[in-house]
Amino acid sequence: MNKRQIERYRKLLLAKREELLNRVREARSSEQEITDKEAPDLGDRALSTVIRDLSYQLTASERDLLRRIDDALARMTEHKYGACVECGKTIQIGRLDAVPWARHCIQCQERQDRGEI
Ligand SMILES: [Zn+2]
Repeated sequence: MNKRQIERYRKLLLAKREELLNRVREARSSEQEITDKEAPDLGDRALSTVIRDLSYQLTASERDLLRRIDDALARMTEHKYGACVECGKTIQIGRLDAVPWARHCIQCQERQDRGEI
């Protein structure tokens, strides 16, 4: 992979990272809003608990993605970006376009999905 390609993926990763951080911030502020507006009525309180739980889940899965993006950026620094962490082969460009933080090539991803690695 050449420098220009790396730079393009770096931009994609950083943009996605920024988008995630913004969503995490938004989730936190809407959480705050729900707490502030919490009604004394039990029905409303039950509903707001549900919404709060949802935003916690969102934050957890987005944090996971954030970790993958940070990993990918770290692999870039180590000049390992674009190589499958399992077999070392170059990850397909089409796959990186769809999932710039991919750690595995398609073959290894399929094997991992099947629980083989
Ligand atoms: Zn592989």
